[in-house]
Amino acid sequence: MVSTGSTTASTGSTPMFEYAPAPESRAVVDIASSYGLFIDGEFTDPGSGRSFKTISPATEEVLAEVAEADARDVDRAVKAARRAYSRTWSKMSGRDRGKYLFRIARIIQERSRELAVLESLDNGKPIKESRDFDVPTAAAHFFYHAGWADKLGYAGLSTAEPGAPKPLGVAGQVIPWNFPLLMLAWKIAPALACGNTVVLKPAETTPLTALWFAQICQQAELPPGVVNIVTGAGETGQALVGHDDVDKVAFTGSTEVGRQIARTVAGSRKKVTLELGGKAANVVFDDAPVDQAVEGIVNGIFFNQGHVCCAGSRLLVQESVAEEVLERLKRRMATLRIGDPLDKNTDVGAINSAQQLAKITELSAAGETEGADRWSPPCRLPEHGFWFPPTLFTGVSQAHRIAREEIFGPVLSVLTFRTPDEAVAKANNTPYGLSAGVWTEKGSRILWMAERLRAGVVWANTFNKFDPTSPFGGYKESGYGREGGRHGLEAYLQ
Ligand code: NDP
Repeated sequence: MVSTGSTTASTGSTPMFEYAPAPESRAVVDIASSYGLFIDGEFTDPGSGRSFKTISPATEEVLAEVAEADARDVDRAVKAARRAYSRTWSKMSGRDRGKYLFRIARIIQERSRELAVLESLDNGKPIKESRDFDVPTAAAHFFYHAGWADKLGYAGLSTAEPGAPKPLGVAGQVIPWNFPLLMLAWKIAPALACGNTVVLKPAETTPLTALWFAQICQQAELPPGVVNIVTGAGETGQALVGHDDVDKVAFTGSTEVGRQIARTVAGSRKKVTLELGGKAANVVFDDAPVDQAVEGIVNGIFFNQGHVCCAGSRLLVQESVAEEVLERLKRRMATLRIGDPLDKNTDVGAINSAQQLAKITELSAAGETEGADRWSPPCRLPEHGFWFPPTLFTGVSQAHRIAREEIFGPVLSVLTFRTPDEAVAKANNTPYGLSAGVWTEKGSRILWMAERLRAGVVWANTFNKFDPTSPFGGYKESGYGREGGRHGLEAYLQ
């Protein structure tokens, strides 16, 4: 149960721990009342003259007014990126590009506290996640790709001409709201390392860390036009991916919008990568270490409020241990602290938007209507802002909407299985194929499962682990192309 970020949930036999508030200071970040578009190295007013408000989902407080780019603004940004590509960036040596990337990585580290507070304010995620995961992993992506910039000729990528492989040109990149700074790093770091310039559109509900990143580009003295940030909603993204002078489109977001983008670029010369939705199975066998598996289940679905494309949203547990696993899982869920994202003790923060909350609420209601059993620990949620309690559904069948559709919230659907073959059949019974988890003490079973699971990433006895050196991406309706590692470079080279 939780309320203000300092109270622990409690059920039955679980002891109640009181936590004193431990708020991170908001004063480390100075948010202006309005922001323009970042084009050609400068903040400029949008030609449209329009703007929108970005709010804190935890309090509904307006944080800033942000410019809304229309098609003409996108055109200005693409032209700036083209100029920077032709005149500067594509002519620069990999070694010099690497220096800029190292500089950006170091500034992200230096300004990490500011970025973490800003991300938690704008997105609603707990400060311990933005501080310990989002920001350091974003810096790690720039460090990793800085190292590649002068070694592309040795990456083992086949090229038509001798020498290092050539960049594509201007990349149009559209990112979602669940990991705003980290998704920006996943997109911008490899593009720049490979010699491309970029125009990036952050999500409408989380534009602030991208605008801070624009300031970091200025601080790093990155040549003007190499990075351009155009804020706005879906139409801005549409204008960007449909622009004639964009050579490469990189998108992370919903499968529905991914389909629209695939249709937009079909038949054009544009290269595309799509990182879309998921409905991952987290498979727990009867020989798994139960306490560790429970931590993995919790991390798999309640990390970032479940706003994670690779979230372990379908728990498949072997029937013989289902009762024990569920009992311990409920006990653990009752200790999760929900509330103020800036409190360092908070485990589960706010839902990112009213729209997303409505979607989670609707799908959870459908779970009950279709006959599954719903459970949440006793919860007192804050009065303002967008909140949803950690929720568990048992008695779920494979046909239920909560077992098939991406909820993108703190909602876990539990199914059981008896044999490894049944586990594989159920795990693969989804239109998605982004990730999966396997919990067992047998190495041979891990390999057997990994061979059969149709998922881009299979975690064994862990979940939601990310590293810039490791490729990430999906099968089927989870998209195509890989980000990260050597494979991720291919998406930005001819
Ligand atoms: P979207 O796919 O709509 O948004 C992702 C990004 O694409 C945003 O920047 C969005 O802008 C932009 N966009 C929207 N429409 C277009 C378009 N036609 N052309 C180009 N860009 C566009 O996700 P939502 O935020 O609407 O979330 C809806 C659902 O998608 C969630 O409930 C969740 O299930 C899933 N989702 C999955 C993610 C993943 O990583 N797999 C990430 C985010 C969402 P804007 O924000 O302004 O709309």
